[in-house]
Amino acid sequence: MTVFNFSAGPAVLPVPVLLKAQSELLNYQGSGQSVLELSHRSGLFEHIIEETESLLRELLQIPDHYRVLFLQGGATLQFSMLPLNLATVRQRVDFIDTGSWSQKAMQDAEAFIQTNIVASSKADRYRSIPTDTIRSDADYLHITWNNTLEGTTFTSVPTVDVPLVADFSSSILSEPIDVSQFDVIYAGAQKNLGSAGMTLVIIKEDLLQRTPDRLGSYLRYDTHATHHSLYNTPPTYSIYLTKLVLEWIKEQGFDTIVERNRKQAASLYAYLDQSTLFSNPVAIQDRSRMNIPFTTSETELDEQFLQFAERHQLVNLKGHRSVGGMRASLYNAMPTAGVDALIAVLERFEQGER
Ligand SMILES: *Cc1c(COP(=O)(O)O)cnc(C)c1O
Repeated sequence: MTVFNFSAGPAVLPVPVLLKAQSELLNYQGSGQSVLELSHRSGLFEHIIEETESLLRELLQIPDHYRVLFLQGGATLQFSMLPLNLATVRQRVDFIDTGSWSQKAMQDAEAFIQTNIVASSKADRYRSIPTDTIRSDADYLHITWNNTLEGTTFTSVPTVDVPLVADFSSSILSEPIDVSQFDVIYAGAQKNLGSAGMTLVIIKEDLLQRTPDRLGSYLRYDTHATHHSLYNTPPTYSIYLTKLVLEWIKEQGFDTIVERNRKQAASLYAYLDQSTLFSNPVAIQDRSRMNIPFTTSETELDEQFLQFAERHQLVNLKGHRSVGGMRASLYNAMPTAGVDALIAVLERFEQGER
């Protein structure tokens, strides 16, 4: 059965990537071994991890003075690793509070250091991104670029005099970014990069010196930088899948993907904005292209729609449990046919079909 998967993560992967993984599953490049069976110290795997890094550097135009790390623990471990490694001078971190994930990041930092909210869209129920001028003299400023639950996104980089750390979990490689405007970029792989298990950290080299002496080896960025993410066993298969996804992006052309994301999101928002049944609550200028929440405003009707959609092969449209309603995640691998099918099903439901 073919379905369109609108899950927020783990999420849809490109079909050619899955087919390629399938074709190589039992015998990777004539080695007689599966990637799942390869030693992380083998030449074959070293080639995979080097190629993954080099594709990322090429697609995101990562400058040479940034290190690229492949870690485990999800974006969530970064909520602790960041303050443990970087909040070591003033022991203070500033946050722009844009919703659930920025709050989670802040809660973990609070266990070690002082935290402070320098701007928040809480009063607007997180339907927008704060526009305040930011002043910070903390060890770094943390932002959540794309807010996966609330469906908002930053569209410009805040200017501050302190290092800027950004959670890009749900929008990495969906649009061009200027890496040099950030000091740390991190993202779990299971939304736009590949499968669950790997977390990408792009960190400016000079920040590696901030790590204090008393910190366990895995928790230190400098450990992973020194050992090229091979200090211990990395999430080998997840890194391999990321390599396949990056090859797919390169083959399609990054610009093509960016343009497709823009068009797909625009057509869904256009439908929602003219609909008399469904609506999206987010301020127009701050709308995410990756995660689009919408609702009928009636729990019962939302539930009926979710069942209707599922009967039409549109799955995982249920909104996050803390928000309710529906959410369509349109990551890089979502084909235009999926968005067209969603709009058609929304129309039919609005016209009264059940
Ligand atoms: C999914 C997500 C996370 C959490 O990622 P895990 O890999 O589950 O730890 C953090 N931040 C954002 C913005 C996310 O979308």
